Amino acid sequence: MDLIFSSKNIVARIVDTRGKTIERPIEIRKDPVTGRSCRITFSRSLEKEASTDDFPPRPPTADDTVNCPFCPRQLEGATPRAISSLLPEGRQRQGSSVLFPNLFPYGAYSAVSLFDEQHFVEIGTADENTYANSFINCCKYLQKVLAKDREAVYVAVTQNHLPAAGGSLVHPHLQVHADRVASNHHRFLEKRAEKFYSATGKGIFATYLEHEIRAGQRYISCTGQWHWLTAFAPEGFFELWAILPGRNSICGIEHERWQELAQGVLCAQRFFRKLNRNAYNLGLLAVEKPSSRLELRVSLKVRANYAPWVRSDFTGYELMLGDMATFVAPEQTARQARAFWPPRA
Ligand SMILES: [Zn+2]
Repeated sequence: MDLIFSSKNIVARIVDTRGKTIERPIEIRKDPVTGRSCRITFSRSLEKEASTDDFPPRPPTADDTVNCPFCPRQLEGATPRAISSLLPEGRQRQGSSVLFPNLFPYGAYSAVSLFDEQHFVEIGTADENTYANSFINCCKYLQKVLAKDREAVYVAVTQNHLPAAGGSLVHPHLQVHADRVASNHHRFLEKRAEKFYSATGKGIFATYLEHEIRAGQRYISCTGQWHWLTAFAPEGFFELWAILPGRNSICGIEHERWQELAQGVLCAQRFFRKLNRNAYNLGLLAVEKPSSRLELRVSLKVRANYAPWVRSDFTGYELMLGDMATFVAPEQTARQARAFWPPRA
């Protein structure tokens, strides 16, 4: 069972406004892991994307520390506490990070992990240690959840940076989730990784990474043991992946690995900032079963800048046909991104 990196080039022929027949190239790729197709519609880069000529201004709530439930003065009175059998103190601290349950939970175990007390942090300017602390706080929370509920094995860490990415508050934070019920991605990836392992004796993301290191065009660099690359068949704009080959458990990874991941996330943020983008989503998921063959893979996707009447980044093509239509080749994104990472050790 090989991983297939398939791509196909097609053209659309149209008559332009001067009466000349022209061809517009489109590349259709399939993700080797999911089999899902995406389209790189190169000509759409000619279309003007709103508010990306300059870096966006600060959000209007950037200085409103009085009405923010995550700012230190309000935190105690405005955020909920975990039940005492889960977190005896109600909230959990790790260095600069505070973790507490989500007031509006998505699942049985749903918490928020702050980076620090700073209310607004421009993309790419955060202290790396605050990210490491917040990741470690999520990891420790998941360890406690699993100790209490051994069946809440479908776990994830996510980030919605700014409202354009779905964030309800500008105060930077991560979400951490654990549930007995799998999400769509958990359900699919758990089975896919298991089948791949049964057929080959290898991890699917380690195998994907080996191919990409050999191929070279999409590989960016590494931060410690995490390898950074652009997705072959992106499902979001400027999609970046970080793969930790051979490791399957969020609960089981060491503090050093979180520090290395934090370093890479800050590199990605500085790259996005250079593209004049200030919003993105991040996701890392795992199945916390000893038998799980699904390795850790972080994905980051840029979202459209928030501006009055800006066009959404998801159109009928993505939502109704299910194919992402991006406009920059992942190889070009990788070439641009490399300058923002330390050279590969
Ligand atoms: Zn705040």
